[in-house]
Amino acid sequence: MERVIILGTGPAGLTAALYTARANLEPLVIEGLEPGGQLTTTTEVENYPGFVEGIMGPDLMDIMRRQAERFGARYKAGLVESVDFEPGAHKIHLDGGDTVEAATVIISTGARAKYLGLESEQKLIGRGVTSCATCDGAFYRNMPIAVVGGGDSAMEEALFLTRFTSDITLIHRRDELRASKIMADRVLNNDKINIRWDTVVEEVLDVEKNEVTGLKLKNVKTGEQSEIEIKGLFMAIGHEPNTKPFQGKLDMDEVGYIQANNTRTNVEGVFAAGDVQDSVYRQAITAAGTGCMAALEAERYLESKGQ
Ligand code: NAP
Repeated sequence: MERVIILGTGPAGLTAALYTARANLEPLVIEGLEPGGQLTTTTEVENYPGFVEGIMGPDLMDIMRRQAERFGARYKAGLVESVDFEPGAHKIHLDGGDTVEAATVIISTGARAKYLGLESEQKLIGRGVTSCATCDGAFYRNMPIAVVGGGDSAMEEALFLTRFTSDITLIHRRDELRASKIMADRVLNNDKINIRWDTVVEEVLDVEKNEVTGLKLKNVKTGEQSEIEIKGLFMAIGHEPNTKPFQGKLDMDEVGYIQANNTRTNVEGVFAAGDVQDSVYRQAITAAGTGCMAALEAERYLESKGQ
């Protein structure tokens, strides 16, 4: 049986791996479908302390991975299918039939951007449909684009995109923004951003070119339909945590974020770190910080059990 199993290899998981490895706990790190997590879909990271000139997201994750490995972290590819949390011997069932067992588990499976779920949207992800302005904004220099959402993320994305283009349509399903006043005001006062209120996307158009060319929209109050021409569609309707295998096994909020107190979940020996338990900050550095906290909590727990 392992002493520590870490689920996920974003900044939270890899920091937990570094700390538990340096504590000689030889953590086993389960690496899912997106090794390195959301940062591997980013280009330059300029706000991770320690890198004066910034660093590419995938490079940062590669460094973190190797740093933890240097102290004895081990990696195993696998998708968590289900779990049986039994204090003292938590079982993690992976795809392919493997089960791994540990005295402590650190869940750092992260979160992912939400999409509308339209068939046309799904088909065009990576071909004009994206959820990351930071990653893809520069591809749409001087082109018409749209952002969907009314929260802080949508405001932030739309404002960031004004660096590249002055033709931005913000599409929101209500007549009032959810975003904080300061962010909302910046958008409302920016003449590069035109807001379509009470509007939903019915279809992403590609006119048989397999690249986004426009949107079919509907006003939810009047029922009126319209079309706009765009080249890029930025989805900013929130994130959802990757917590499906843990549903019913751990306390979560209504969205599915794990409820943790200083990374301790309601189950003894099970800890949560990073975006999987944080819907507010969602930064690489905060994820790394909570990864460190979870590792220290796991160490203390093991010590208290004489392990
Ligand atoms: P959010 O606050 O949940 O907002 C999601 C937005 O998307 C809402 O306006 C929502 O509409 C809309 N939406 C959701 N599902 C939709 C659907 N199926 N179709 C159309 N529209 C849909 O999410 P967020 O903006 O990602 O922010 C998450 C948290 O991070 C918040 O606490 C936010 O304050 C924080 N954050 C802060 C900053 C910052 O301060 N710089 C930046 C980013 C995020 P409704 O309004 O109608 O529900």
